[in-house]
Amino acid sequence: PAVIVAIDGPSGTGKSSTSKAVAAQLGLSYLDTGAQYRAITWWMVSNGIDVADPSAIAAAAEKPEIISGTDPSAPTITVDGTDVAGPIRTQEVTSKVSAVSAVPEVRARITELQRSLAASAAYGIVVEGRDIGTTVLPDADLKIFLTASPEARAARRSGELKGADVNATREALIKRDAADSSRKTSPLAKADDAVEVDTSDLTLQQVIECVVTLVEE
Ligand code: C5P
Repeated sequence: PAVIVAIDGPSGTGKSSTSKAVAAQLGLSYLDTGAQYRAITWWMVSNGIDVADPSAIAAAAEKPEIISGTDPSAPTITVDGTDVAGPIRTQEVTSKVSAVSAVPEVRARITELQRSLAASAAYGIVVEGRDIGTTVLPDADLKIFLTASPEARAARRSGELKGADVNATREALIKRDAADSSRKTSPLAKADDAVEVDTSDLTLQQVIECVVTLVEE
């Protein structure tokens, strides 16, 4: 039977690198749910919708067609047929994604996409996000909650952003985590039956091995 793995946690914990590598090693599909929320945010910004106006966001939530390619060696994301892998990583989208993803109509729309992708994965799927174990796939075979110290997370993110200021990155991360954790619908949270892995002092390879072992158990 197909194996479903949910990997949740804040950004900068190595969630994406870990999820992709675990999926590739085990021959599973891979879904980056943050990319989906970034994609719908990109569409809202591109179409002049005020992200401070939840009713405007709600009214448009069904409009964009968002398609995720789930091959872990080459994940893709398109909006209405346009490849948005680059544009969804800009600072503008990053600073607005928490507001857009807090709107219940947006979550309902994206959650439906996620469940249908998980149901159609032949061998199974690794799904990474914030609310996968708690809300999207509560019956997942394995739930992982990745954590790391604020210092480790900011350092990793600055490394990814090539030379971005570590302090500014840490401030922005803390703000985004606070928004993601305090929203009313599906906040970032550890599921009761999730295994918590603190990645602060582990290498990426160690985290991958740890998760692969848990899947195989
Ligand atoms: O994982 P990433 O940092 O790309 O996620 C971007 C944003 O998308 C998060 O800060 C959060 O606001 C939102 N998100 C979410 N639920 C998920 C995944 C991401 O609300 N399952």
